[in-house]
Amino acid sequence: MNIHEYQAKELFDRFQVPSPSGRVASTPEEAAAAAKEFAGAKLVIKAQVHAGGRGKGHFKNGFQGGVHLIESPEQAAEFAGKMLNETLVTVQTGEAGKLVSKVMIAEAVDITHEYYLAILMDRATCRPVIVVSTEGGMSIEDVAHNTPDKIVRQFIHPLLGLQSYEVRKLTAALGLTGDIAKQFAKLLGNLYKLFISCDCAMLEINPLVTTPDGRVLALDAKFGFDDNALYRHPDIVAMRDKSEEDPREVAASEFELNYIGLDGNIACLVNGAGLAMATMDIIKHFGGDPANFLDVGGGASKEQVTAAFKIILGDPNVKGILINIFGGIMDCNVIAEGVIAAAKETGLPIPLVVRLEGNNVEMGKATLAASGLNIVSADDMADGAKKIVAAVA
Ligand code: ADP
Ligand code: MG
Repeated sequence: MNIHEYQAKELFDRFQVPSPSGRVASTPEEAAAAAKEFAGAKLVIKAQVHAGGRGKGHFKNGFQGGVHLIESPEQAAEFAGKMLNETLVTVQTGEAGKLVSKVMIAEAVDITHEYYLAILMDRATCRPVIVVSTEGGMSIEDVAHNTPDKIVRQFIHPLLGLQSYEVRKLTAALGLTGDIAKQFAKLLGNLYKLFISCDCAMLEINPLVTTPDGRVLALDAKFGFDDNALYRHPDIVAMRDKSEEDPREVAASEFELNYIGLDGNIACLVNGAGLAMATMDIIKHFGGDPANFLDVGGGASKEQVTAAFKIILGDPNVKGILINIFGGIMDCNVIAEGVIAAAKETGLPIPLVVRLEGNNVEMGKATLAASGLNIVSADDMADGAKKIVAAVA
């Protein structure tokens, strides 16, 4: 799960990570009112979407940039009007872009230098890693590609936590000294506490800045949380913005289905993550393109299968469906009943190929055959993949 920059500020405040104060707004009037609250201060207006690269992005209405300096409440309203309910395209959103439904008005600060700071969970070493660079404010992927030596990593022992010598090493890597170094050390300690306490998967500040009046501030924030730990954080779950997520994935999560939307046109309904991966591979192998990864799990109910089938049918890109079930714990007849229930509700306007094997398979096949639905049955995985690829061609 991700959150918006304005929500990240709440967490920064709670853990005493200094950042410019900001207010969120959903209308030009609210933006003007927010700007009035900062009377006298220089301000920025920033589009709130779950994607970076906003500063250099463009709106589909032709307006350039999702981050702007503003000088008055009138200008706040004017810029908000150009951003709100418009689609922002950045290097991270892809061509489709993201609809902006909120903007943040924040204090603008003068910048001496922009740094990069992130904390991530590193799978290879099974521990958090802190990543810093003096090359902040730009795409870290470009820095990694062009000047990899300018990226410094420090792995942290998960039980010992962040040690002072590690902080000193990172401070030195950024070339910080004196009071600025002290402020950075405190900020990093607090940020690490935030990362651990909130079960973050990633936390990226790009840029972290120093200012001419001697402050260290987080100007931007990108947060990702470990979904499996969200049950411990109802306050963070309350920040979820479903409009930022793939609607197919939101629907799937309501039924506890493991679903990831993809760009192809052959939908798959499979039980078991490994079989789901293999099914996507074999579709590719025979020249097709999977529209999703969908694992209904070992003990799916008829309701879950029905929900899964409806999500698949609700995707306009889907031109055919391959059901590939290996009944172990899963009863093939439960799948058959779920498919029939969903097809009766929504109709079955596209080809459906079914390969069932294992637990209660004869009953499952008989149920499907008696349904009167137009189903192509397959003998094995390869046969199923070939048949569905041919059917959508
Ligand atoms: P994104 O990474 O999505 O482009 P950022 O929040 O990093 O968005 O903003 C882009 C750039 O705008 C920053 O690198 C920084 O130079 C400038 N900026 C952002 N927030 C402020 C602020 N509060 N005051 C001054 N400049 C800012
Ligand atoms: Mg940024």
